[in-house]
Amino acid sequence: MRRRRCAVLLSLLLLAWIASAPTPAVAFGTIDGGGQHREHERITRAALACTNGESACFEPATMNYLAGHDREFGAVGAPDSDEMADPAAHCDDADYLAGSYPRTREAAGASLTDCVEQLRGQFRTGLDSAKDLLDDQGEVMPDEVTVSPECNPREREESRAKCTTMEAFGRVLHGAQDFYSHSNWADQADPDRPIGDDNPPGLHRPGPSPLLDLRGATVAGSPANFTTGCYVLQDQVPGVGACELRITHAALNKDRGLIDPVDGRATEPGTPRGQVRDNFADAVAGAIIESRRQWQDFGTELTARYGADRGTRMICALTHDDPVQDCHGRHPNWAAIIALAAAGAALVVVVVLIRRFRRRPRG
Ligand SMILES: [Zn+2]
Repeated sequence: MRRRRCAVLLSLLLLAWIASAPTPAVAFGTIDGGGQHREHERITRAALACTNGESACFEPATMNYLAGHDREFGAVGAPDSDEMADPAAHCDDADYLAGSYPRTREAAGASLTDCVEQLRGQFRTGLDSAKDLLDDQGEVMPDEVTVSPECNPREREESRAKCTTMEAFGRVLHGAQDFYSHSNWADQADPDRPIGDDNPPGLHRPGPSPLLDLRGATVAGSPANFTTGCYVLQDQVPGVGACELRITHAALNKDRGLIDPVDGRATEPGTPRGQVRDNFADAVAGAIIESRRQWQDFGTELTARYGADRGTRMICALTHDDPVQDCHGRHPNWAAIIALAAAGAALVVVVVLIRRFRRRPRG
């Protein structure tokens, strides 16, 4: 109880700090406040919740952990609690602009590779954790697949296979979504200003991006004008410190705005780059499509690694709120078979008796 009060107090202090901070935090938002509107939660829900009629969808209690809710960061918000300082977790620092620029295109490419490899590591961690969802016979293990009570946030011990798998996959989603907010993949430059480190070119491409192929072993070459933003705590335009003369996160990000968690409609962009043309809506649309692609790829890898039967049951266990009820194995349900056989035998007996009765000559 005391620890809990302490945690609440710390959270309040953190919230107050975020709300008072003059610069935005580092990504599509995780909380409500300080200009954030739970953007990661809403993108994740719009992409993968069952409300949207998606065939590969997450049921409500499971989605609550994946996307977060109320004050909970959820799996997709995990990097904002313990990977804030790691640019690779948010696809920052892969900045480059043709012409005289303080770093080379190769250095930018290496930072992009760091991001892709970071997400690949989480992708693999998730695939590894999924192994423990099923027993040796390929049946779901009740203690490993339940999300009631909800999966613990990271600071407490959590060993349920579904929770650890979802946390790793949530970190994949976070970075993949940030890619669209923090890079110029989906956006466009401000046509009213000259191109420069404060107004880099935009590629205006849709999701999914071949750069985020986490199943592959190499990183696809990025388009010539691709860039993300350089991030330091004092995030501003023009850049300062390590980001001096560089394209900054502040100049390029489309982190803030309102997102409808059901249909993904994105309005009221809250950052300068997001307010150019349809940049915020384009970044959100890309992030939603990318999130679906990552889940599809994760499922494909589960079946590739564990076989079709087990893989299918793992996907069922990860998406359903009651896997014990919903995700039956291929092993026969003997009680049902015996009951069916007994009913069949009884039917045969009745038919034989009726025939005999009819054949009897009438006296
Ligand atoms: Zn982020």
